[in-house]
Amino acid sequence: MKNDNYGKLLIRPFIQCNESLSGFLYRVSLMNNYRFSYLSNFLHLSIYEAQNNEFNQEAIEKFSDLVLRNNDSISEKNGYNLNNFFGYELYSKIIMKNKVKYCPLCIKEKYYHRTVWCFTPIHLCVFHNLMLVDQCPQCEHSISMADFMNRRCEICSLNYEDRESANNDNLILMKSQQQLINCVWDKERYVIPYCNFGQYFRLANSSYHLLINGKDYTAMTTEKLSFFYNRSKGGKSGLKLANALANVYWMYLDFPRNFYIVLGDFLNRNEGKQRYERLKNFEIIFDDQEFNWVQNAYNAYFLKQIDEGYVRKDFSVFKKNPGLLADRCKIRREEVRQVTGIAYEKLHELSDYSELHIEKKYLHGQQRYLVEKTTLDDFLKNRQSLISKKEVGLIIGFIPDTVQKIANAGYLTPIRVANSPNAMFQIDEVNKLMQDCLGEYTENLDPSMVRFHNVLSKYAKYAFTILEIIAFTYSGHLNPYRNSESQTLADNYYDEGQLKSCLDLLKRRRQEEKGLHFNDVTKILKIGEKKLWRILREQDIKADFTLVMKDGRKRYYFKEETVSRIKRCKNLLEGMS
Ligand SMILES: [Zn+2]
Ligand SMILES: [Zn+2]
Repeated sequence: MKNDNYGKLLIRPFIQCNESLSGFLYRVSLMNNYRFSYLSNFLHLSIYEAQNNEFNQEAIEKFSDLVLRNNDSISEKNGYNLNNFFGYELYSKIIMKNKVKYCPLCIKEKYYHRTVWCFTPIHLCVFHNLMLVDQCPQCEHSISMADFMNRRCEICSLNYEDRESANNDNLILMKSQQQLINCVWDKERYVIPYCNFGQYFRLANSSYHLLINGKDYTAMTTEKLSFFYNRSKGGKSGLKLANALANVYWMYLDFPRNFYIVLGDFLNRNEGKQRYERLKNFEIIFDDQEFNWVQNAYNAYFLKQIDEGYVRKDFSVFKKNPGLLADRCKIRREEVRQVTGIAYEKLHELSDYSELHIEKKYLHGQQRYLVEKTTLDDFLKNRQSLISKKEVGLIIGFIPDTVQKIANAGYLTPIRVANSPNAMFQIDEVNKLMQDCLGEYTENLDPSMVRFHNVLSKYAKYAFTILEIIAFTYSGHLNPYRNSESQTLADNYYDEGQLKSCLDLLKRRRQEEKGLHFNDVTKILKIGEKKLWRILREQDIKADFTLVMKDGRKRYYFKEETVSRIKRCKNLLEGMS
């Protein structure tokens, strides 16, 4: 069989760069008039291996020695080592065995077997926009490599070059097939964004779970997409697989718009266990970080669904990833009640008072109430930060009545939630008051210091109350101290001297408010009581303030202007006399 001089075959054609090894082996044996089995035996390959591009290293070397011319070489595009190139999992899904398909126009241009025709999902000749032919156009018998290379159907003897195939008029299929062919040999190229050939098939295999039984988005057929794992005559149907992949291609076009359409249709036609199982199967793809971009859109979709009230929080997506629930915008009324313990009636009351926003929705024949999450969060945060008068009392160390006085004086702001009868207080505001008025800690407290309650009892007759203590602390006239770890105002101590000057200030201030006492006026104007009475009577000057004592006696007070007027009258009288 060999040319004795060279150890090579007599007729050695060039291998085409996109020609399959098996096809080339057939071509070579035909040209040299050998039986195919003869050459495959010589290469130590079974017929199955030789027909299906399963050439081991030894066979490749022997074959190269036998037929290759100088500068000619066998590459991946000849289908060399497909198993390793794609990895067994993908390889087993996409490589067609024991049969071939072809483009009728390609073989008219040059009759040889193209490697891409070995791929089940590639079903369109992108050069001629023709569907590949994968069975005899006349008798529908499948086409073996031997028949193909003999150019005739072994059953009906139809010449494969005699018939043309259907023209494709589907743009999605065209684009999808084009992308597969562009990327099949180049792992750096993307079929769709973020997905090379291998990643795209992994995504497609998951996506089938969402597409199954759905409509054909490419409009190639009017049938439901129900065919993914069906086998036609022992092999996967290339047309159906190409159609399925075109649907996947469409699904990730304009991402995530079409993806959301598919999800919406999926939810409409799948319910209960079937819905759960199919979503679970789809979600397996998320175990792989490469598909985070899909997962993010998927999560966002279901967040919107839960916000609209279409799905519940025990939906599979949220079960798997409970942290997602924090990103919701709306929460069902039932859940709010369960989590917060707030009854429906109270929730709606809060809504009436605009403390919460509740949306009403009529869904699946039922009235649904959705609570807007931001308003609920604010409300809960607020509620958490609100404390009762009694609790304020415990913090500052006084009874609730005193707290009320402090609030009345404006140091604390009472807050009423909805139509609750009891005012509440902001814990932050209480803490701020404490921070401002709490004594500075010291270990050596001067024994002359006066404790808070003693200040109150000691100066009670001057109406020196807690409000005055707070006011003088804020104005800086009083510097509180404490020597215990306890942090209430009741444990504060004050300096006696500071207290006295505060008292003086207080007296002066009250005097300014009330005016000078009758006796003080006589002293200031150096005038006798009788004379003062006379001036008041004759000039018809009234006291600005009259205090009636318990025993019925009256005390008269005069403001500064009044005292000046009295002084002018006195001077006038003295001038006349
Ligand atoms: Zn073609
Ligand atoms: Zn036939």
